[in-house]
Amino acid sequence: MSEARNTGELPIYLDHHATTPCAPEVVDAMLPWLSGRCANASSVKHGPGKAAAKAVELARVQLAELLRCSPKALTFTSGATESLNLALRGTFGAYRDRGDHIVVAATEHRAVLDTAHALKAAGAKVSLAPVDGSGQLQPGVLDELVNDSTVLVCVMAANNEVGTIQPLAPVVAAAHAHDAFAVVDAVQAAGKIPLDLGASGVDLAAVSAHKMYGPQGVGALYVKQRPFVSLTPQLVGGGQERGLRAGTLNVAGIVGFGAAAALCRREMADVAARVTALRDRLQAELHAAFPRARLNGHLEARLPHNLSISIPGLDAGALLGTVGDRVAISSGSACSTTSLKPSHVLESMGMKPALAYATLRFGLGRDTTAEDVDRALTLLIPAINAHRVLAVSD
Ligand SMILES: *Cc1c(COP(=O)(O)O)cnc(C)c1O
Repeated sequence: MSEARNTGELPIYLDHHATTPCAPEVVDAMLPWLSGRCANASSVKHGPGKAAAKAVELARVQLAELLRCSPKALTFTSGATESLNLALRGTFGAYRDRGDHIVVAATEHRAVLDTAHALKAAGAKVSLAPVDGSGQLQPGVLDELVNDSTVLVCVMAANNEVGTIQPLAPVVAAAHAHDAFAVVDAVQAAGKIPLDLGASGVDLAAVSAHKMYGPQGVGALYVKQRPFVSLTPQLVGGGQERGLRAGTLNVAGIVGFGAAAALCRREMADVAARVTALRDRLQAELHAAFPRARLNGHLEARLPHNLSISIPGLDAGALLGTVGDRVAISSGSACSTTSLKPSHVLESMGMKPALAYATLRFGLGRDTTAEDVDRALTLLIPAINAHRVLAVSD
């Protein structure tokens, strides 16, 4: 720690699943809207208001181009947690007469699991769809779970802990076979892997700016236009966002989100190739140092920048306690690091608690360099050795 201070070295940031730094071009796009330009995007009777509304609409187009959907299908929110609350509560409220059943994948983010749980108070019956050892839905499981009283099926496009990518076509097919909505948490996939929401048949999808090099506090909800999905608004007031989400628009944040979407669209393939090579090197070096290390998630269908690895005998929490100031990684999901419970994602993939506590999650990003990976390895390998309780069989 003192070493890091003496050399003035910044911590190595390898936690891009938790949040990503704002890209410099995103900050540049936002700055005029944070200082100088003052306008409410709803005040379209005067010049400044019109300019703000125009900037918001440009951002909507930029995001639509990344997600491959109509800009009209996008509603800006304060983040994906709000988008998912609106998707789940909004459809459950609007289609309550259709049924009371909700299906969510066992590996969903807390924003989905806790919202589904909260809906039980409103009469929802919630089924958790089990996953296999790779984190993908067990084949055929949705066909068993979804029935005519199912209102929605919520599945993530890519998992935030183990990086497993879930094919969406079977989810849409299973939901639509019973007139239920397919809701997708696309937060970790957007900007990292190609998405085509328009062609996917997905009904609702949530994204977040700060997971794709935009600012914190801005998100969006995709709502399919044809056939139209109706939603009960969760925030009412000024009627913004066509009545779906009231509240003065965060113009600077939305402009930044648009710039981030344009950036991701432009460089996605290049960043994915570069980051995959770095990730594979990190993985190979950790395997060389710890031959019994186990790779989590799907071997092929996984996010380019994700590495989740379990090192038998490691106390990952204690490790982070000593190296966390110098290298930012996670011992699971950021949301579960404060609790002592093993990650629900790893648990639902069939992992024993002891191995879950021995798990490290790395999230590389567009700004990660080979030097970052080397420095992280130099720091981590001895530290991991110091935090391993070696069983006799080791
Ligand atoms: C971060 C995250 C969320 C929540 O997004 P916020 O914009 O921070 O509210 C939801 N789902 C997944 C998979 C995430 O990684």
